[in-house]
Amino acid sequence: MRTLLIALTLSTVALAQDKPDLAIVNKIRAEAFEHSQVMETLFYISDVNGPRVTNSNGFHAAADWAVKRLEGYGLVNVKQEPWGEFGRSWNFTHYEGHMIAPQYSPLIGFPMAWSSGTNGPVRGEAVLAELASPADLQKWKGQLRGKMVLTMAPKELEMSMTPLAHRLTDEEVAARAMTPDPSRFAFGPAPAGGRGGRGGRGNAAPPDPAIERRFRAQLMQFLIDEKPAVIVEYNPIQDGGTVFGTSFGSYKAGDPVPPPAVVITSEHYNRIARLLEHKIPVELEFDIRAQMGDRAEQSFNIVGEIPGGRKKDEIVMLGGHFDSWQGGTGATDNGTGSSVAIEAVRILKSLNVPMDRTVRIALWSGEEEGLLGSIAYVKNHFADRADMKLKPEYAKLDAYFNDDTGTGRFRGINLGGNDMVQPIFEAWLAPFHDVGATVVTGASAVADRAPGGTDHTSFTYVGLPGFGFLQDPMEYATRTHHSNMDLYDRVQKGDLMQAAAIEAAFVYHTAMRAEMLPRLPMPQSHPWAER
Ligand SMILES: [Zn+2]
Repeated sequence: MRTLLIALTLSTVALAQDKPDLAIVNKIRAEAFEHSQVMETLFYISDVNGPRVTNSNGFHAAADWAVKRLEGYGLVNVKQEPWGEFGRSWNFTHYEGHMIAPQYSPLIGFPMAWSSGTNGPVRGEAVLAELASPADLQKWKGQLRGKMVLTMAPKELEMSMTPLAHRLTDEEVAARAMTPDPSRFAFGPAPAGGRGGRGGRGNAAPPDPAIERRFRAQLMQFLIDEKPAVIVEYNPIQDGGTVFGTSFGSYKAGDPVPPPAVVITSEHYNRIARLLEHKIPVELEFDIRAQMGDRAEQSFNIVGEIPGGRKKDEIVMLGGHFDSWQGGTGATDNGTGSSVAIEAVRILKSLNVPMDRTVRIALWSGEEEGLLGSIAYVKNHFADRADMKLKPEYAKLDAYFNDDTGTGRFRGINLGGNDMVQPIFEAWLAPFHDVGATVVTGASAVADRAPGGTDHTSFTYVGLPGFGFLQDPMEYATRTHHSNMDLYDRVQKGDLMQAAAIEAAFVYHTAMRAEMLPRLPMPQSHPWAER
């Protein structure tokens, strides 16, 4: 019944030019499913060269590999395109963490980005000193020098009885098309106690961001003055050996450099905290090698093109961010989206069918620090939202397709409020219903008021058509996103093959459509919202 209804809607609404080219779709599917190279690409991006913290050695090595790969596939104008000043590089090349007393235990963890190394192994007494407010800083002033400081209150871990990974049911997929605010579902249901960020402040409501920012600056100065041996944190949202962590210091040149800071798994953190609460002395040892760059560096996005034919000055873009955090290898965030985009252009090249418009892949840097690479690219090429002065390329960018939610099949595509595109995308999605991609969501969403979430919003913010795909959440929020388990084995081959086929088909149909995709009205000029 549902299938019938959809078919009826398509035949009545879709224009002739939006009928999918089924012969091409057939070739795309054959290439994607029978000759896939997507996992081989992921292997080089994650296992061989990851992690890829922006401007780190791994990032550079992976970026050099990607350029060669794209050139090998026959793309042209492949380059690492500088987008402006990023900041300091940061690399870590060694981590050891141990509890020495009262009993020996290795500590599962990793250093947080832009914090210092230890300059050789350091041993010290652990102190549970919750540093959550200015009053806490007063209380502990002068007592933390040379100590291993656990700065967060321990938290009882509730046994999770829900599976870590989840594929959306057909009903859940359909529900996303109905909701006026699909962004609520971006990563699937939120785990109890919130998600992401620097957790561990008990169950209190999240603090006001401005107050939190001010306190973070105070805390940073306190720690620099106090000189603890190592700062030890955890994330109470993930447990069972999974460690969530991003940065502790700042990538901006000139900002103060914090002492060594590590994040360890919740169970290890809680054990140390319980021992200290029982007044049993705990001795820890860490050996961290971390190198901070001494100056602000430029960064770059990776771009490459398949030149178009009779409309070659019009551009269809696809991509995702290439940088990652450091706990794993950035396999799902965003090795997957990068590999899918590289695979999609490989598939399009392999068709050996000329396309009217030029197809351009872009793999962004600095996403994790605030969509820096894509925002700068949009500003350099298309428009600055501060004045909405348009560059000539603004009129020539047809659409940008982004993939950045880990493994998990494409179940649909999000319009971000551009309901004019709905019947077009419904038609293009029809040949992929059998592999699970069925819905077009976000027709009634409010267009993005600020760049956020991920890179296509850097486009939509200046009124350019930018689209993200709806994916099965799998275990992105529960296990891999920004964690030490962001690794190759957490990625499902079939998911990536399906995603690459759909992305290639959407890019192909956009590149061949008689007209460019309809756009929302141009936004008013407005300075970047404070983030
Ligand atoms: Zn990401």
